[in-house]
Amino acid sequence: MDKFQQSQKNKLFKTPTHDPYSASRIEGAAVCPKCEAVYGAGTWSWKRPENTVVHGAQTLTCPACRRIEDDRPAGTLTLSGSFLHKHRGEIIQLIEHTEKKEKAEHALERIIKLDDATDDLVVTTTGIHLANRLGHALEAAFKGSSEYHYSDSEYGVNVRWSREE
Ligand SMILES: [Zn+2]
Repeated sequence: MDKFQQSQKNKLFKTPTHDPYSASRIEGAAVCPKCEAVYGAGTWSWKRPENTVVHGAQTLTCPACRRIEDDRPAGTLTLSGSFLHKHRGEIIQLIEHTEKKEKAEHALERIIKLDDATDDLVVTTTGIHLANRLGHALEAAFKGSSEYHYSDSEYGVNVRWSREE
């Protein structure tokens, strides 16, 4: 392993920088007024039918809604390559399907924007986990190659996926 690979490896395994949007633990329960995610015991989750009444909950905007409001993604996924142009519809479908599954399990993992305006497709997410999962889902479904880069200065990940036909 040369020096460059070594530094890439270190980058990959280092602990991510602290997420400025993860609020410090609060006492009791809270409900996000925008998306109705429920906070309790240190985590945000979706209201379960058997748990529709949250007693004494405070109102607190969740980290995902705050990121959406500020347009400050934690994950950015950039897709490129000629394969993308021929299979755009299928690829977008896979992205939306993957988000739906991820979001159902993890309330704070959501897509902020799917920008289809340029040749590349740019997807921004509220969580680093979703950006990673999208990269892996694309590889699993369409092959191609992806790269994952964690930012040194800020909490976040940049994922690039591409495939040329
Ligand atoms: Zn919310």
